[in-house]
Amino acid sequence: MNHRSLSAKFYIKTMGCQMNDYDSDYLARLLLNNGYSPAGSPEQADLILINTCTVRAKPEQKAYSFLGRMSSLKERNPDLIIGMVGCLAQMKGPELLRRFPVLDIVVGPRELVRFQRVLDKVQGKSRRVVATCLDLRPPNPVSFRGYFSGRVTANLSIMQGCNNFCSYCIVPHVRGREVSRPHREILAEAGSLIREGVREITLLGQNVNSYRWQGDGKTWDFPRLLGELGEMGGLLRLRFTTSHPKDLSEDLIDSFSRIRNLCAHIHLPFQAGSNRILKLMGRGYTREIYLERVQALRKSIPPIAITSDVMVGFPGESERDFELTLDLIRRVGFDSLFSFKYSDRVGTSAEKMGGKVPEPVKASRLKALQDLQKEISIKLNKALVGTLQQVLIEGPSKKGGEITGRTESNKVVNFICDQSMIGQLHKVLIKHASLNSLWGEIAD
Ligand code: SF4
Repeated sequence: MNHRSLSAKFYIKTMGCQMNDYDSDYLARLLLNNGYSPAGSPEQADLILINTCTVRAKPEQKAYSFLGRMSSLKERNPDLIIGMVGCLAQMKGPELLRRFPVLDIVVGPRELVRFQRVLDKVQGKSRRVVATCLDLRPPNPVSFRGYFSGRVTANLSIMQGCNNFCSYCIVPHVRGREVSRPHREILAEAGSLIREGVREITLLGQNVNSYRWQGDGKTWDFPRLLGELGEMGGLLRLRFTTSHPKDLSEDLIDSFSRIRNLCAHIHLPFQAGSNRILKLMGRGYTREIYLERVQALRKSIPPIAITSDVMVGFPGESERDFELTLDLIRRVGFDSLFSFKYSDRVGTSAEKMGGKVPEPVKASRLKALQDLQKEISIKLNKALVGTLQQVLIEGPSKKGGEITGRTESNKVVNFICDQSMIGQLHKVLIKHASLNSLWGEIAD
């Protein structure tokens, strides 16, 4: 099983959130530094890694079916190494080795810092390894010259873990306690991204606005860190996700009007509109507090775009509770919503709650909610037709034939322009709008 030959190839399948994208970039650079090269498909690889998500039942099933498809490759190439990393690896650990004989490696998110050692063990001694310690600091990024060249945007994790233990959420159980990275490491990483040509950075954390680092006799909280990043030359845009309403301070709200490159967009999950359900969820705020925070944001930065996460079918959710969720959505008028059906996560306190909502009821509530949000999003997007929007040009659109970029409010815009303008900010006159995209013409 020794793949230390220079021709060894790796393939990483990434599922789930931006934090997993960030972790996969870390693993890719680690492997490139160890002589591996990227494979175009699993069929060409000597090492396959699945970076998994377990925030709901659906992504968990997706990981198992992907793993199932890999087993035939192992029959053809017994030297193939297959590993599962990420949140599902953390949640299930050794059980995965018992269940999936094709698996050689199971590594949780905090163990990525020791991934090379795990790989050496598997390669050297043909052993199968599980590593799921949660008391480790997240790894520092490894640099690999040119890895980000050609990329206009990149993620940058500033903290990991969560201390909130919302009753439905598995994240604190699989990502560990909140750990903030030293601010100088974050600034150094941002500097190297900018030198490689990145022009927009999104700061990541499961609870990004509770960032707090103490060192050198000083304290860096989130607004202060944003201020420092805002000063960095070459950084055209700064974004962050995911925020918690309880940590949305006045200072952070002011940051939007104070920091020149901080985009006027915030992703602020509300999850439910009923105070009774918010209490059962352990969210730590009421609908009134959430609406007041939204008002404060809009007073400080009127054009700010607000997106959110919402869940239907939480245990005990009544028709009345659901109506309160719809009512909050109408009152706020979100630019877009990530909406989900509640699903039990093993080990969470909600899993043990009574009053589980039947699947058909969850499905009809989710449909009603998504239909309402579609109306709101289309109306907001159509209101941008005829306006000039500042767009960071990112590259060819997925559909091809056009170039794409995003507005400050994080809306996708498609237009025609020369590829030499990629990585630049330009004014675009919006001509047409749909539910998920805008179209326009370069206007400067
Ligand atoms: S704050 Fe977010 S990540 Fe943390 S427990 Fe709640 S839902 Fe999960």
